[in-house]
Amino acid sequence: MGKEYLMIPGPTPIPEEVARAMSTEMFNHRGPRFKELIEQLTAELKKIFQTEGRLFILTASGTGGMEAAIVNFLSPGQRIISLTNGSFGERMAQIAEIYGVQVERLASEWGEPLPYDELEKRLREDARGEIKAITVVHNESSTGMMNDLALISRLRGSHPALLLVDTVSSMGAVDIPVDEWGIDVCFTGSQKALMLPPGLAIISVGERAWARMADSGMKRFYLNLATAQEFLDIGQTPFTPALSQMVAMKKSLELYFSEGRERCYARHRRMAGATRAAMRALGLELLVGEKEASLTVTAVKKPEEIDISRLRAVMREDFGVEIAGGQGKLQGKIFRLGHLGAVTEMDVIVAIAALEMALARLNYPVSLGQGVKAAQEVILAG
Ligand code: PLP
Repeated sequence: MGKEYLMIPGPTPIPEEVARAMSTEMFNHRGPRFKELIEQLTAELKKIFQTEGRLFILTASGTGGMEAAIVNFLSPGQRIISLTNGSFGERMAQIAEIYGVQVERLASEWGEPLPYDELEKRLREDARGEIKAITVVHNESSTGMMNDLALISRLRGSHPALLLVDTVSSMGAVDIPVDEWGIDVCFTGSQKALMLPPGLAIISVGERAWARMADSGMKRFYLNLATAQEFLDIGQTPFTPALSQMVAMKKSLELYFSEGRERCYARHRRMAGATRAAMRALGLELLVGEKEASLTVTAVKKPEEIDISRLRAVMREDFGVEIAGGQGKLQGKIFRLGHLGAVTEMDVIVAIAALEMALARLNYPVSLGQGVKAAQEVILAG
């Protein structure tokens, strides 16, 4: 019996109904059926993003959304600030550099809070408005750190820099009021909280960013959002879209809204709280402090005696639970548990039970049941 639990930061498990919806017959992406579909999906996604602005569904992975955020609204030679404290923040800075943008990194060590004071200082100094944008990853999946978007939005204040935000591993699972926080461009991917396979990027654009597009001297073709808008106006996409994914999205959004946004956020809070409590009860050290802890991904430091790849192999092979290792410079130093999307508190309990057994099998001194108990208490407390 090979039941598998996918407890990585993404792709996340998909509900059976979504998997079934994927096996749709094909239909004309330039016909009325598609028009109805894209209009419905766009309207519903705007509710999750909490935006009245524009929104586009791109056939691309999350990184396609990231690249679209750079190439549509900036020009080569322009100066931006990239806030980085993990591998995805670094990726966003790199993309901007590749396109000739002058990137000023305000960086913290991976797993440490962003240098908010420095951001405030740099924006205050920039009386001439030379900083054209701020890039930031809301939920750094590489470290399990949730950066403080509300604070960044306040610090940006009336400075004209656009706020370009990666919410790939948080949108849908966490309350992100895009318009209220003045997020000019915000993107996510389908394979995380939206309970879909990988393959779609969703990007919202506010009017301020849209107005900058005309001045952008960046070359772009596939990710040109002006073209996407022209086609969306007639209920189409410029290129052949991932039709199966979009049909499945109709189902996943139906499931999402039947749970309801608030209940979905609360479930993610409980799962994160339970996971962290369990790790502490097992004497394991968390990478990120309580205040900044992600609600969707938990990173745990490697106990000295344990080899992460061995631990992951035992969890996978003996107990059917897939967890993630560290990325980049955190490889071999941490393991990560994803708890987002179509994952329940009971899946979290299973993952914790498996972790306890895997640690015991590797002769790490765990008291079996301690982590599970701590998690149960958090879940019961609601
Ligand atoms: N940004 C964050 C925060 C992510 O977690 C990921 C993927 O894990 C990405 C960007 C990149 O997304 P993709 O792998 O779909 O291109």
